[in-house]
Amino acid sequence: MMGIMDFIEAQRRVNILKELIKENNEAYYVNDAPKITDFEYDELFRELKRLENEYPLLITPDSPTQKVGDKISDGFKEYKHKYRLYSLDNSNNYEDLRKWYERVIKEFTIQNELELVVELKIDGLSCALSYEKGILKIGATRGNGIVGENITDNIKSIKGIPQKLSKPLNLEVRGEVYMPISSFEKLNEENIKRGLREFANPRNAAAGSLRQLDATVTAKRDLHFFAYTAISEEENLFKTHSEALALLKELGFNVNPNYKVVKGINPVIEQCEIWSTERFNQDYATDGMVIKINDLAKQNELGYTSRAPKWATAFKFPPEEVWTRLEGIELSIGKTGAVTPVALLTPVQLAGTIVKRASLHNFDEINRLRINIGNEVLIKKAAEIIPKVIKKREEEDLGIYETPKYCPVCNSPLIKPEGEVVLYCSNSKDCPAQIQGKIEFWASKEAMDIDGVGETIVEKLLEKKLISDFADLYKLTVEDFMQLDLIKEKSADNLYNAIQASKTPSMTKFLTALSIKHIGKETADLIANEYPTIDTIKTATEEELTKIDGIGEKAAKSIIDFFKDENNITILNKLQEYGVTPKGSAVEKISNIFEGKTFVITGTLSQPRNNFEEKIKQLGGKVSSSVSKKTSYVLAGENPGSKFDKATQLGVIILTERDFDLLAQRNNDEKKF
Ligand code: NAD
Repeated sequence: MMGIMDFIEAQRRVNILKELIKENNEAYYVNDAPKITDFEYDELFRELKRLENEYPLLITPDSPTQKVGDKISDGFKEYKHKYRLYSLDNSNNYEDLRKWYERVIKEFTIQNELELVVELKIDGLSCALSYEKGILKIGATRGNGIVGENITDNIKSIKGIPQKLSKPLNLEVRGEVYMPISSFEKLNEENIKRGLREFANPRNAAAGSLRQLDATVTAKRDLHFFAYTAISEEENLFKTHSEALALLKELGFNVNPNYKVVKGINPVIEQCEIWSTERFNQDYATDGMVIKINDLAKQNELGYTSRAPKWATAFKFPPEEVWTRLEGIELSIGKTGAVTPVALLTPVQLAGTIVKRASLHNFDEINRLRINIGNEVLIKKAAEIIPKVIKKREEEDLGIYETPKYCPVCNSPLIKPEGEVVLYCSNSKDCPAQIQGKIEFWASKEAMDIDGVGETIVEKLLEKKLISDFADLYKLTVEDFMQLDLIKEKSADNLYNAIQASKTPSMTKFLTALSIKHIGKETADLIANEYPTIDTIKTATEEELTKIDGIGEKAAKSIIDFFKDENNITILNKLQEYGVTPKGSAVEKISNIFEGKTFVITGTLSQPRNNFEEKIKQLGGKVSSSVSKKTSYVLAGENPGSKFDKATQLGVIILTERDFDLLAQRNNDEKKF
């Protein structure tokens, strides 16, 4: 039996929760600067819902559970939506998801499982677009669902929103405006440099960028759109949600391709499982999955609550952000001497894994955020696997962490090159950490791919003074390996053979393996395309190098410095002496039909990308990793990413695999006749 005291206690808590939610709504919706994590917010929201369910007398119309949360900013004109917009109810466990399904099927007299569509919940902000006779007339934010902000000028620069449809339809289209994670990170980096505020996550960056009173600012931001709803008064245009998605795609909208039409709740859960990790491989943020009844007639039958449709629900992924304590800062010295501060944390569960270490960016950032050992810090997992420290609790000030001055391994002074934020150990020749890092990297999969030569073997070889740099690997004998603990003749043979087998790498591999600052595989590939031998690279000038599309001043300078350095010259000479010589451009040209043409490859193709890269190079073309005005063609496979959007924006010709084959073939034929 409910006691009066319980009721009073519940009422007190409900009022507190309403207040807290209201305050955080303001920070999130109006200022695009949340103070708590979404997970924490959802916990408050669920607690309020649970108490209101238990004590329905406490439900008031102004409760956040009864309405769509958002506010209209003063600067925009209001727009009264033609069709009301809603939020979504959500659960964070499969049991509640099953309960939702059971509640739903009870409403219908059906024998079989219900057809559902399960799609990604894109973490951006929703937008309603109104088309008249196929022409975009209005774009508006959700607002409170009844009235939104008229942002028509702002949405015109967003990728994936056609101004004119391929059919003259009267249509309302809804979808999510989002900022790719890579663009969000770039924007924050720029903002840090310019002393502007950082956005907490891609969703807030998208909202902050879209709701700009000056539409030219919005146009400069990399915003995209995924359409997920179509509403039409024309009969028979579509009868199911999946038909609507197909139509949206046909009309020129970006529709997220990762949706599935399924029967019953089990395959929904399967999709939730798959995407709870797979989502980290996408360049856009997702905070869950949305599950919708496919049949529109059934959707109408179920209808809405005051806040959300009854025919849909969301499953929220486990939190990607969590608070924990910073117990220490470890300095890790990389192969180029870069010092990376690593956070040592009180172990904590985050997005399905236990996290003990996280990245702390660089020392400027640690000081800017006033993070010190002992602080409680927010850590976050985004597209990358290694979590990052985002901030400390605002109210907790433990002073500034003192930036180290000396390398913790060799005690040499740390230096910060002009225009860079990273600190480097100045002793590139003798720092044991750098030497070991370079040797390990030389042998790694990314570089020369020498099987068996990993951290432990390298450590032992250095300890026994059998090697002092990666060139020395090639002078090792089977007997040398047998001097190491626990290495038997068979393994020693294998190690020896693996090293000897790596003596004629491609130029790209060789350049990558040298650990030149700012030169990764893609940059190495660009250089290898232009320079067939190490001798030609040695004499290249900065001007010549920066002429290569994709090579900037920093990379060019770094190459020149590398080949001037005496220690590096000694190592290169040793490599030559031991017979390690790059093969020159990895691919032999068989024709010049793609001469002067630069290709960018994106999406999943029927064969590995390497095969296409090789073919392009064989036909005299170049392959670049990023789309620019200089790109001649983008070869796009299934699920192309932001490169595809950029190509569309720049008007670069996009080829399907079949177009590519035809082009290669046609060019071949032209050449023949
Ligand atoms: P919501 O984001 O949980 O769900 C509804 C929204 O999902 C829709 O409006 C739409 O924009 C979006 N969506 C994305 N992909 C979709 C798809 N495929 N189909 C349909 N819709 C899709 O609900 P909400 O009302 O927009 O916001 C509430 C949420 O916002 C909270 O659960 C919390 O995560 C966050 N929030 C956080 C704070 C904070 O302080 N951290 C404050 C307020 C709100």
